[in-house]
Amino acid sequence: MLKLTFLGTGTSQGVPMIGCLCPVCQSSDSRDKRLRSSAMIEDGTTRIIIDSGPDFRYQMLRAEVRDIDAILLTHQHTDHIIGLDDVRAFNYFCSKPIPIYTTELVGSVVRKNFDYAFGQHRYPGVPDINLCTIEEGPFRVGSMEITPIFGRHYRLPVTGFRVGGIGYLTDFNHIDDSELEKLRGLDIFVVNALRHQPHISHYSLPEAIELARKVGAKRTYFTHISHQLGLHSHEEPLLPPTMHLAYDTLTIEIP
Ligand SMILES: [Zn+2]
Ligand SMILES: [Zn+2]
Ligand SMILES: [Zn+2]
Repeated sequence: MLKLTFLGTGTSQGVPMIGCLCPVCQSSDSRDKRLRSSAMIEDGTTRIIIDSGPDFRYQMLRAEVRDIDAILLTHQHTDHIIGLDDVRAFNYFCSKPIPIYTTELVGSVVRKNFDYAFGQHRYPGVPDINLCTIEEGPFRVGSMEITPIFGRHYRLPVTGFRVGGIGYLTDFNHIDDSELEKLRGLDIFVVNALRHQPHISHYSLPEAIELARKVGAKRTYFTHISHQLGLHSHEEPLLPPTMHLAYDTLTIEIP
């Protein structure tokens, strides 16, 4: 059994956006309240988190997460990495370093942003992070085999992940056909869909739907959603039958 939990489904500014008076940001529907995008995958033995943005601390509290086996980072943008400092709680209560799996490039940005967590003479109490470099092929975290999927976020390389029947891509706007092959036969496909209009570095909803058709998963969920996409209650019924807007706290189990 695999369980996927959406910890956050919003774009970099989150929804509502500070100061915005649009109907989505003013909505009282909890599905229109989107923390920065992050997800948790569990199999009963191993628990991984994908991305740790500015809402990481609250996301761990809200989902009552008390232990994690690893964090996987998709890319180095602030809305995906800047909450890493809060792994300190897991270091403290679980008495272990937290492995962070990402590419060499993203790892170098993590080292720079969190320089106090690395180096010879670390101050007591700083995050205990074990940076693990993702290479071309699959890697293991506990009981899970994880396949990295490489794409582009405009000019930036970005990494998605497949765990069993779950595929998770965020902040993509291009993927080669050879990488798409890694997403064959999915139960659940998660992909970013920012808004209806095109964007330079993110799939729009029409582009995400087109990609989802190509991938052909049993069910698709869209994430990394902007307030410009529209109200959840309005947009959800307009989607093709196997496709849905994700929302924060949504949990999906697959056998
Ligand atoms: Zn992002
Ligand atoms: Zn708004
Ligand atoms: Zn990004």
